[in-house]
Amino acid sequence: MIGFLSTGKALVPFVLKFCYDVAFMKWSYSRINSFSFCPKKYQFRYVLEIAVPQKPELAFGVALHAALEKNFLHKIVSREDMPLKEVLQAFYEALEQALVNVSDEALFGPTDPLYLRSMGENFLEQFMTERAPALQPAPRGVETFFNLPLPGSHEMTGKFDLLDTHWVLHDFKTSSKPYHAHKADKTQLVIYAWACERMFGRAPKAICFDVFVKGDGSEGMVALQAPLFFSVPDPSEMARVADNLYKQIEKILEVQSSGVFPRSFMPLRCHWCEFQKMCVSSWEEAGKPPPQRIKMAPIV
Ligand code: SF4
Repeated sequence: MIGFLSTGKALVPFVLKFCYDVAFMKWSYSRINSFSFCPKKYQFRYVLEIAVPQKPELAFGVALHAALEKNFLHKIVSREDMPLKEVLQAFYEALEQALVNVSDEALFGPTDPLYLRSMGENFLEQFMTERAPALQPAPRGVETFFNLPLPGSHEMTGKFDLLDTHWVLHDFKTSSKPYHAHKADKTQLVIYAWACERMFGRAPKAICFDVFVKGDGSEGMVALQAPLFFSVPDPSEMARVADNLYKQIEKILEVQSSGVFPRSFMPLRCHWCEFQKMCVSSWEEAGKPPPQRIKMAPIV
């Protein structure tokens, strides 16, 4: 178990954590996805639960979601959007709070707090003017948690952003580039449709991605993209995804019980990874093993 030895974590919490996961068997899609991306990263994040400084991009996304959530929760009752000024206030407060966990060195250029604040203002102004007035949230349709049963007593938990009264399920996304429909994560679409059916007794009419394109300092669009609509997967597709998710979970549990989590990449090149520093030092201690991919069956 190179991971916990090199990071100095005690064995007892590791064993307890593993027993907890196996006993309760609750999974999120991002957790499963993280393993497929890099098992070592999964180990740092979900097994050893190592806290890392939050990324400013994530803090920005969290603040934008918080402001939209506040508006739509208010709208469920009042049937009216909040004044823009109040939505922006909710955004400023959430951003300030989320940036507390971001290291100062990370806050420059396109992630400078003043830039983030001004970008958020522009996004929210555009959204509240052009899109929000046409959206009436369904009761229980804002930031709704779901629990989906999987084979083998596993459960998939998650949350969707907004279900409107026309049965369109919305996912708010921040992205550095415009989103292309063909690149959308099909598993996520299936999970949303399935969650809607389970919670409300019917599938959504469509799934819509509302994408806030940040540009991230490079030239190009910084704006709210035109809504992207996706058709809803059929029940046989949902059943197939459930079965494939179960197989992936079984694979993860197998690796987890072995305690050996390979790296999918050369850690020196993983500049985007928040665990890069500790990964490089444990990789050097382990004699710089080459990257190794664990073959996972496709989900969709
Ligand atoms: S630095 Fe690279 S190899 Fe290491 S955990 Fe992160 S993604 Fe995986």
